[in-house]
Amino acid sequence: MTDYRPTWAEVSLEALSNNVKAFKDYINDECQLMGVVKADAYGHGLVPCAELMVRAGANRLGVAIMEEAMELRKAGMDVPILIFGYTPKEAVHEAVDHDLTLTVFSEEIMEEVIRAAEEKQKEVKIHIKVDSGMHRIGLKRGEDILQLLEKNSSSYVHVEGVFTHFSDADNEDPAYTEQQFHHFLSVVEEVENIHGEIPIVHCCNSAATIAFPHMHMDMVRVGISLYGLYPGEHMKKWISLHQVMSLKTKPVMIKTVYPGEPISYGRSYEPKQPIEVATVPIGYGDGLPRALSNQGHVVRNGQRAPIVGKVCMDQTMIDVSSVVKSSRDAVYTFFGDPEEGHIPLQEVADQLHTIHYEITCQIGPRVPRKYV
Ligand SMILES: *Cc1c(COP(=O)(O)O)cnc(C)c1O
Repeated sequence: MTDYRPTWAEVSLEALSNNVKAFKDYINDECQLMGVVKADAYGHGLVPCAELMVRAGANRLGVAIMEEAMELRKAGMDVPILIFGYTPKEAVHEAVDHDLTLTVFSEEIMEEVIRAAEEKQKEVKIHIKVDSGMHRIGLKRGEDILQLLEKNSSSYVHVEGVFTHFSDADNEDPAYTEQQFHHFLSVVEEVENIHGEIPIVHCCNSAATIAFPHMHMDMVRVGISLYGLYPGEHMKKWISLHQVMSLKTKPVMIKTVYPGEPISYGRSYEPKQPIEVATVPIGYGDGLPRALSNQGHVVRNGQRAPIVGKVCMDQTMIDVSSVVKSSRDAVYTFFGDPEEGHIPLQEVADQLHTIHYEITCQIGPRVPRKYV
C-alpha cells in the first residue's frame, strides 16, 4: 500500500522487542517462547513482526492457517512454525515440503500426514491437540489419542508436541483454568505412559502465561501480550508491557460548522455553537469502528477531541475546537501509548463492548503500517 493518504498505524518495534524480552525474563530458561502471529500479527503486519520476535528471542512462531505459515517461509524464515488450526488434506503435502508443523486432532489429517511423509521419505513433526474444556478442536481423552496413534503410525512421523488451549484464563477466578490444566495433565500422562515422552507439552496463551506460571511447562504461546495488551487489567501487576500499535491521521480539511448545520450521514450531530471541524481521511472501510460515531475521541497534545456525527466509510469528522493549534499538520491519534497521553486500546474496547484483539485485527489493509 502506498501512503499518499495521511492515515497510518504506527507499530513500535522497540515496544514489541521489549515485550518479547519481558516474556523471556518472565518464563524460565527451559521454557520456549512461541510468538503468535496469526491474523497478520493481530493486525500489526505478519513478516516484520515475526522477524523481530525471532530476533528478540522467540524460539518458534504460531499461526492459525497454512497461508500464514507459507507467507513466513516465502519471506525466508526458517524457524519452526506450528499451524494451530485445521489444515485441509490438499494442503498437507505442501506443508510437509516446507517443514511446517501441523496440529493433528483427527484421523483424516493423520492419515494424510503419513501419506505425505512416506511418499517424500521425509521426517515430519506433529502436535496433537487436546480438548480440555474449550470444546473447539481437539481430542478429549487420552485413549482417543492412543487409538489414533496406534492405528496410524510411521517411522517418518514424530509426535513432537501435545497441547491444549484455555477458554477462561483471563478470569480472575482460576478454578476453570485449573480444571482444564488438570484434565490436560492427566491426558498427557496417559499418552506418555504408552507412547513415551513427548518433548514439547504446552498449554499457555498470554493470559495463562502471565497469571499461572506453574502451567508454563515446555513452551508458552504468547499472542496479544507481545503486542503490549493485557488480557485482563489485573495482570498489570505481574508484567510490564508496552502497547505496540497507534492509529494516527491528519486532517484534510478544517472548517467552522455553525448551529443548524448537521454533520455527516443521518444528521446525527448538530453543533450548539460554532465549532471547528477537522475531517480526517479514515473510516470504517479502514477498520475504524462505525460504533465510535459520536462516541470516540482522538488525542492531540494530550487533549481529547470527540468524533462528531457518523463515521463514514473513508472519512470521519472531529470537533477540534478545544484543541490548541489544530492545523492540517496536526497528528490526531485514535489510540496509542497511554504513557504518551493517548487513549489505550483497552478503553476503546470497553467503550465498544468488545476486546482489544478485535480492534487491532480489523485495522484494514488500506492502512499502511509504519514501523518506528
Ligand atoms: C491465538 C492463540 C494463542 C494466543 O492467544 P493470546 O490470547 O493472543 O495470547 C495461543 N494458542 C492458540 C491455540 C491460539 O489459537
